[in-house]
Amino acid sequence: MPQPPTSTRPDIPSTAAAPWHTRTSQQALDGLQVSAQGLSSPEAADRLRQHGPNRMEVTEGSGLWRRVLAQFNNLLIMVLLAAVVVTALIGHTLDAAVILAVVLLNVFIGVLQEGKAEKALQAIRHLLAPHAMVLRDGRLHEIDAADLVPGDVVQVASGDSLPADLRWMQVNNLRVDESALTGESMPVEKALAPVEPGAALGDRLCMGYAGTLVTQGQARGVVVATAGGTEMGRIGRLLESVEPVVTPLVRNMAQLARWITLAVVAAATALFAFGTLVRGMPAAEMFMTAVGLAVAAIPEGLPAIMSITLAIGVQRMAARHAVIRRLPAVETLGSVTVICSDKTGTLTRNEMTVQQVVLANRVIDIEGAGYAPEGALRSNGHHLQPAELFREAPALLALAEAAALCNDASLHLEGGQWQLVGDPTEGALLTLAMKAGIDPVELARERPRTGAIPFESEHRYMATAHAAAADASAGHNLLLKGAPERVLGMCSRQCRDGGEPVPLDEPYWQRAIDEQARAGRRVLALAQGHIDAVSALDSRSGLDGLTLLGLVAIIDPPRQEAIEAVAQCRAAGIRVKMITGDHGVTASAIATQLGMGNDLRAVTGPEIEAMDDTALQQVVQDTDVFARASPEHKLRLVQALQARGEVVAMTGDGVNDAPALKQADVGVAMGRKGTEAAKQAGAIVLADDNFASIAHAVEEGRTVYDNLRKTVTFLLPINGGESMSLLAAVLLGLAMPIMPVQILWVNMVSSVALAMVLAFEPTEPDVMKRAPRPPGEAMLSAFVIWRIVLVSTLFTLGIFGMFQWSLSTGAPLEEARTMAVNTLVAMEVFYLFSVRYLKAPSFTGAGVQGTPRVLLAMGVVVVLQALFTYAPFMQSWFNTRALHPAEVLLCALVGMGVLVLLELEKWVLRQRKVA
Ligand code: ATP
Repeated sequence: MPQPPTSTRPDIPSTAAAPWHTRTSQQALDGLQVSAQGLSSPEAADRLRQHGPNRMEVTEGSGLWRRVLAQFNNLLIMVLLAAVVVTALIGHTLDAAVILAVVLLNVFIGVLQEGKAEKALQAIRHLLAPHAMVLRDGRLHEIDAADLVPGDVVQVASGDSLPADLRWMQVNNLRVDESALTGESMPVEKALAPVEPGAALGDRLCMGYAGTLVTQGQARGVVVATAGGTEMGRIGRLLESVEPVVTPLVRNMAQLARWITLAVVAAATALFAFGTLVRGMPAAEMFMTAVGLAVAAIPEGLPAIMSITLAIGVQRMAARHAVIRRLPAVETLGSVTVICSDKTGTLTRNEMTVQQVVLANRVIDIEGAGYAPEGALRSNGHHLQPAELFREAPALLALAEAAALCNDASLHLEGGQWQLVGDPTEGALLTLAMKAGIDPVELARERPRTGAIPFESEHRYMATAHAAAADASAGHNLLLKGAPERVLGMCSRQCRDGGEPVPLDEPYWQRAIDEQARAGRRVLALAQGHIDAVSALDSRSGLDGLTLLGLVAIIDPPRQEAIEAVAQCRAAGIRVKMITGDHGVTASAIATQLGMGNDLRAVTGPEIEAMDDTALQQVVQDTDVFARASPEHKLRLVQALQARGEVVAMTGDGVNDAPALKQADVGVAMGRKGTEAAKQAGAIVLADDNFASIAHAVEEGRTVYDNLRKTVTFLLPINGGESMSLLAAVLLGLAMPIMPVQILWVNMVSSVALAMVLAFEPTEPDVMKRAPRPPGEAMLSAFVIWRIVLVSTLFTLGIFGMFQWSLSTGAPLEEARTMAVNTLVAMEVFYLFSVRYLKAPSFTGAGVQGTPRVLLAMGVVVVLQALFTYAPFMQSWFNTRALHPAEVLLCALVGMGVLVLLELEKWVLRQRKVA
């Protein structure tokens, strides 16, 4: 057993006297000095100080050094280092030193950028912090799992990941997947009895271990160890967290950069051979030319800028409530064609209010909204007094009591507001009971629960048992609530107004269900019965012949943002499909309110089951609403959509949604109501469970892709222009217009500073008006390649032209080269304005002014170029000369010329498209 820290204070119990699995739960509670009602808040705070937060610390170790070394594990840097050695050996010491300095600067920038990306992801990890339901001061609270302490009594349900090591106190059909710890793939059924001291981890049925996953049932347990004291902490295995910064696209681009490097090294070698052997030029000079070509053609800054663009995208999505867990999702989001969304809480507000109660022979209207138990009960306009219900409407009272007892939620008045702990549907039922004059806490004390079947989406009902009388042999009252068709199927009688049972009038109830559902209300039925023994609940036997108490009709209005987001998605060529566990008619009514279309017919789970894959593929094309769907149906729906070539984003929250979330191109888990299991399976976690956040994530995904493409389109022509100028010079037997160290300066300093702007580019206004990007579409599309070739040519003309012109005016070689470099940088600056809008004009107010970031980058580059040109130390390092202001102006004019030409090109392209 682990040996957690021994208490140094006598009033705080030590956890060292384990092993817990050999003790009864009462002994465990005694050992931890806590009652079954949990700790008090001050005691918990004290213990938190003593034991520290319940968090696995990530050991940073030699993170910085590893990052620095990783920078050197790069083909380009190696090529450059080799160049440094050879340059030094042939006596160009200054050149060698400058190349080395630039390499080191590049490594430094790389480390900084990665650090920034890493920090962004760290912040996001924090958002994914798990929560726990804990009993403190005698009532349930939801807290950050990091605040758990030994002695806390926690409650878990299916889908939860255990937040700490627990000794079970109550288990209800509890199964736990312990594969993360023991490797055992089948979930283990847990029990309460202590086990032998020598029992292996997997056999300690009375214990639950941090990081393992509840797959079924509910339980309560007392925390025996937290953080590093847990079994998981002991083996030092960290749970799966956010993955590192790499996506298929970035990997492909890095691959491309590697190929370019190799090709360029080969070309430079050939050039060296050509120069020395064919032209008979001196080897040292030719070597410097070859190095120049190599550094000119290799896109040094590209991989780093692409990573930072992605990291910034991830950060922006997090700010808009979509937390990325798997980085490739950032890219995939941009090409999503279908979003399959849950209804409750995602498209709707999940603020449930019971509006009507349907009894056997009358309908009761319930006034009020939200969870506040304020609002009258009216029957045909007549105000029913709660105190009189037992006489005036006994059936309503029986229904309200069932609503309060067959319920796991609780409501508390905090700061004048009614706060719900638990499921909103159940919260609405509690409010109903309170409006009927019932005190749920008091009632639960009078009629304690003797057993329960917890609610699970697959079964769509929940049941509780309560002792019928003090004498256990009298059996138990059974209360049941759930989806009306399920409950109706278990009933043979109904409760008359006076309370006495009569045979079930099924057509009456069907009509009532249909009418309520058409109004978009969520319908639940409540029933009661009798069982002889609680064991009947485990086997689910004896759940027939029940008496139907009535129906409750709950409204859950659509979210306003969801209505807007649905419209936005449709404009962006993305289809929205609702997949819900709710009733078909309710689902269709809500879908219409959301603007998904009129007269939508819902296809139900059982219908999906009856279809083969081919039929389903046809149906998914024509249908947008799927109701009474369970998790297996979601999986089949994703597969059918994918078979049709769609790129699918799918939401999920339950433990059984994990397969569908994994199968989807982008699995979207709910951050609030979602289980830990769903969050671990999802590629994205929505911090606010809101459909609008998915639409925002798509928008950001498209933006990231745009920005990556702009970065590539910006950087590659610079390399193109430089290498074409050099090649032209060699082939024509002229002097090099730019020296290798100068090229390095441009590529690793000016270009990187400018390209960084593109990583932060805001979303283009039409981003959600375009059709989704076809998956697998090459980033270097025909258009992008054309643009790269065009701009490379313009750059070559600019560099070469200015260099030759300057020489022709009689300027010395060094000055002509300084002109060439400054012209290149001026062209880059103006090209940056152009590339910010690949096709749209840049001569708009916003385009010309740019964002503050653009102006800042421009300012930095101007200062750097001034240093490069005028500072004496720079002049000696880079062999530059001071330029006359008129010459500087000329450089700027050439730069501006590039912008004007490109605007003309965009204009022509736009005209041709219109024609
Ligand atoms: P979505 O799948 O869009 O989130 P949902 O919340 O309706 O929708 P489920 O939670 O699977 O989906 O619920 C399915 C049905 O089960 C509901 O329509 C309702 O009739 C019933 N139901 C929901 N919550 C409870 C509950 N706590 N107890 C009993 N029955 C419930």
